[in-house]
Amino acid sequence: MKVVLASKNPHKLREIGQLLEKMDIELVLESELGVDIDVEETGTTFEENSFLKANAVMQATGLPALADDSGIAVDALGGQPGVYSARYGFDESLDDWGRLCLLLRNMEQVPEQQRQAQFVCVITMVTPQGQTIQARGEAHGILLRQAAGHNGFGYDPIFYYPPLGKSFAELSPEEKNRVSHRAVALKKLEEKLKEAGYAHK
Ligand code: IMP
Repeated sequence: MKVVLASKNPHKLREIGQLLEKMDIELVLESELGVDIDVEETGTTFEENSFLKANAVMQATGLPALADDSGIAVDALGGQPGVYSARYGFDESLDDWGRLCLLLRNMEQVPEQQRQAQFVCVITMVTPQGQTIQARGEAHGILLRQAAGHNGFGYDPIFYYPPLGKSFAELSPEEKNRVSHRAVALKKLEEKLKEAGYAHK
């Protein structure tokens, strides 16, 4: 079965594609089908936004479509930046590093024992028959006071992951891929696809 990934990101295609291959699912980028949709992420939850993206691409292609939405939610900030992680500060001049610095500044007054944060990833598959399969993964950690490590992207350098005693940016890609919110969501998606009767090699 062919499934369209509602993303322009070839890294996501590789990571998610490898897992779905085992299930006889061939994942293709929307661009491979000549589709280029910019879905407005108007939802207030990761579940809503990943559904909006998958559903729009399913409608445009007539094929089952899969999308993810992810971000970091900080307890002391009431879950912010959350679904706005990629747009935190709503200042287009900010890049990933600028948004990371803004988050550090907004957390300056918050004491050690109140610095819990979660990376969240929700993956949604929508079929033309109207079936929706959704899986959520979380990684729980602590926000550091300064960046540590050079791997990964986004907020990785300030996300300390206690089970491994390192920030996400200090993990190798393989280590991160074993424990990340995206890995957990993918694992759950695999289980749900099996439950829904998708073949497994
Ligand atoms: P998305 O592409 O709409 O899912 O936006 C995700 C945003 O959340 C990214 O721009 C990052 O800022 C942040 N984010 C999501 N996953 C990670 C991660 O694994 N490491 C660091 N930042 C992440």
